[in-house]
Amino acid sequence: MKKITIIGGGASGTLLAVNLLKNAGDAPLAINLVEKRSAVGRGVAYSTTAGVHLLNVPAAKMGAFSNDIGNFYQWLTEKDLPYDDHAFVPRKIYGNYLRETLEQAIANKPKNIQFNIIDDEAVDMSVDDSQSQVILKSGEILVSDKVVLAFGNSLPPHPNVENMDFTLAPKYFRDQWSPEVYTKIEKSDSVLIIGTGLSMVDLTMHYHAVGHGGKIKALSTRGLLPAVHSLGHTYPSFYDELKPMTRITDLLKAVRRHIKKAESEGSNWRGVIDSLRPHTPQIWLDLPIAEKRYFMQHLSRYWNVARHRVPMEAAVILDEMQADGRLEVLKGRLQKIEVNPSGKFETVFKTDGTENSMETDAIINCIGSQSNFEKLESPLVKSMVARGHIRNDELNLGIAALPNGRIIGKTGAPSNVLLTLGTALKGTLWETTAIPEIRTQAQALALQLLDKES
Ligand SMILES: Cc1cc2nc3c(=O)[nH]c(=O)nc-3n(C[C@H](O)[C@H](O)[C@H](O)COP(=O)(O)OP(=O)(O)OC[C@H]3O[C@@H](n4cnc5c(N)ncnc54)[C@H](O)[C@@H]3O)c2cc1C
Repeated sequence: MKKITIIGGGASGTLLAVNLLKNAGDAPLAINLVEKRSAVGRGVAYSTTAGVHLLNVPAAKMGAFSNDIGNFYQWLTEKDLPYDDHAFVPRKIYGNYLRETLEQAIANKPKNIQFNIIDDEAVDMSVDDSQSQVILKSGEILVSDKVVLAFGNSLPPHPNVENMDFTLAPKYFRDQWSPEVYTKIEKSDSVLIIGTGLSMVDLTMHYHAVGHGGKIKALSTRGLLPAVHSLGHTYPSFYDELKPMTRITDLLKAVRRHIKKAESEGSNWRGVIDSLRPHTPQIWLDLPIAEKRYFMQHLSRYWNVARHRVPMEAAVILDEMQADGRLEVLKGRLQKIEVNPSGKFETVFKTDGTENSMETDAIINCIGSQSNFEKLESPLVKSMVARGHIRNDELNLGIAALPNGRIIGKTGAPSNVLLTLGTALKGTLWETTAIPEIRTQAQALALQLLDKES
């Protein structure tokens, strides 16, 4: 009997499990889904219980299956939940949907499949050419023919300043999802959020909802907030024109030209950016490494702002809070963070050559998931890196792997046993962290694991 172990039961691991259960057919199969959090199916993004934390993709596009992207909206309708197909639904509801999708797949599974959800942490692993032994914190060992690393998001790195003593202060929070963020920060506390992306927006929505009284400051190198969704702007694909291009500057020129054309035709830049999405991984794969580095250094921040947008509901709140001074968005490079004798943080940052400083009661790190696997603190990852089973991709954005998920360890050869999907493939595919890509990868990986690739 073939044995497949999936490590990580967030959206990626769950959707992979669902696709395995649906496509396995008659062959005997054992699937282990190992998750260290108490709830499978939710992961980092969909574990929130706050109704103000919204999906950033409309309901109509969040279905669990690439051949049925309307499946989530259909589920909402069947449940009589009051959302239309354009709605940005609370993420906790999406977590319920993923969980139910898994439960349904388990209920309908053929008898020849053993399916185990294992509530434990994978802490070590040995791998050879044909098998792996996954060691769990409890001491249990899972002998597996294939192992899929569905690790997803990690804690962010600490801000890069010389004296790191501030990280020990009680009101510095590296994990924005830690319950302590909600219990230790008082209503009147001033808060510095480091980072101005979607995680910062989540926190600000929370502070708005609870009527937080202290001032909120958000700092990032460019001080850019995510752009706002405005639905209904479509644009035809122009990928054929981009296909031969292997220089970022040529791609940028072409995209700018199409944005002008879109605007002259009554659409806008959002339609152009969205039209690129299905082709982004191939465009990325075709770029030479020097061009990828150029993109990361000069353009990735602008790309993230345009690509990872917020719903209008959130944008209205951000505007309102900035207008009345509850929220200040700052641009600058961090120089120093120190804790003064009264226990407050003194943060020094430089904006266009000018040094500024601010004092806050708390700091929350929203820099974004640590992508450098060689720096992750997970015992399993540390051990796998040390044993050479995994290594960083050449941009340190994820794990070195083929586009189909086969992991490339220190030997340089694709593994027969270890595979991955989702966030860990960022260096390989760039566009790989959200549900539209994860559901496609989960289906393709399931067919690959079942030897049913077309
Ligand atoms: C705040 C936030 C909001 C988002 N909103 C959207 C959205 O609206 N739409 C969208 O398409 N995408 C969104 N995303 C992108 C999101 O990352 C993906 O949609 C998806 O949730 C990623 O799932 P994952 O399983 O790859 O990662 P994760 O959610 O991080 O799950 C990985 C799981 O692996 C487990 N794990 C890790 N190591 C081990 C181990 N050694 N042993 C056992 N278990 C382990 C972790 O506990 C975790 O539950 C959002 C992301 C974040 C962070």
